[in-house]
Amino acid sequence: MRPARALINLQALRHNYQLAQTLCAGKALAVVKADAYGHGAVVCSQALQDISDGFAVSSLEEALELRAAGIKQPIVLLEGFFHADELALIVAYDLWCMVHAEWQLQAVEQAQLSQPIRVWLKIDSGMHRVGFFPHEVYTVWQRLQASHNVASVVLATHFARADEQYSSRTQEQYQVFLEATRGIQAQVSVCNSPALLAWPDICSDWSRPGIILYGSQPVAAERLNGEQFRPVMTLQSKVIAVRELPAGEPVGYGAQFVSDKPMRVGVVALGYADGYPRHAPTGTPVAVDGKRTRLLGRVSMDMLAIDLTDHVTASVGSVVELWGENVSIDEVAELAGTISYELLCHVKRVKYEYL
Ligand code: PLP
Repeated sequence: MRPARALINLQALRHNYQLAQTLCAGKALAVVKADAYGHGAVVCSQALQDISDGFAVSSLEEALELRAAGIKQPIVLLEGFFHADELALIVAYDLWCMVHAEWQLQAVEQAQLSQPIRVWLKIDSGMHRVGFFPHEVYTVWQRLQASHNVASVVLATHFARADEQYSSRTQEQYQVFLEATRGIQAQVSVCNSPALLAWPDICSDWSRPGIILYGSQPVAAERLNGEQFRPVMTLQSKVIAVRELPAGEPVGYGAQFVSDKPMRVGVVALGYADGYPRHAPTGTPVAVDGKRTRLLGRVSMDMLAIDLTDHVTASVGSVVELWGENVSIDEVAELAGTISYELLCHVKRVKYEYL
């Protein structure tokens, strides 16, 4: 069996959810969309079930998967529904759905539902992705209030730049949201992970933490008082070959790395087809038997090379961590010119083991 593994630490996930809860003024919906950011939505939701206030997913398919697995808590569809026919399933499976466009509003108003649904009204406070414009909000809210198909309304928005701690943009977006919702008595949902970490004055009845649950931290936060989110996924594999090279020898495709001294090079069974970023440069940290060393040369589809020159005891079969406890995924993402979210969502082909 190929030794590439994603080890998922469910205790760390529970710890992170509970730490995230301490940052939330109200309730915390665990964002488990995109297969829980590549960690496995069903297993992660089951692991959080007894402590979580609810879950947020992207689509109806993702929500139905959780209901089929026995998840009973509230589930919010962050993108709402894609076709009016889906409203019957939303009622049948007791889902909460985002309404962000006129066609969805009309679908809710005109549907013949056996029971009213809980609606989240998505407001575009400046991200300009989805949502009603501020000047439309009051009328939309009135229409929802008047509809016999609507049981309750939560006012929601999403921040575009909450991870930019020293920019005033998030405060400005929040002011737009407050203005747009002035005079409306309803619960609100505005905070994602960076907003919870960086903007303690912004309060939500329903926060929506995602990435911090998986142990990646998009911004530093004094509010954690020294507490830390713990990495949930360890991506690891094993050394499958060791080569002793003299100085001046190229390693891998494109000869992107050339040994500058006699070197021991380890070849690891894990590559970009497993989700490791091809753009990770030479020098990106990896850990062998818990001790850090570096990536060498270009990442191949199924293999990558690492420096074992100072790891004299490492040999074929040594365990190599690509990210996890010893190598932060945020470090790898930054060096590869991406974000931890993308790396986590792209892991595939490896065997998942839940601890
Ligand atoms: N809310 C919405 C609407 C989102 O789209 C996302 C993620 O993309 C989140 C919350 C969670 O964001 P984060 O993972 O940064 O906490």
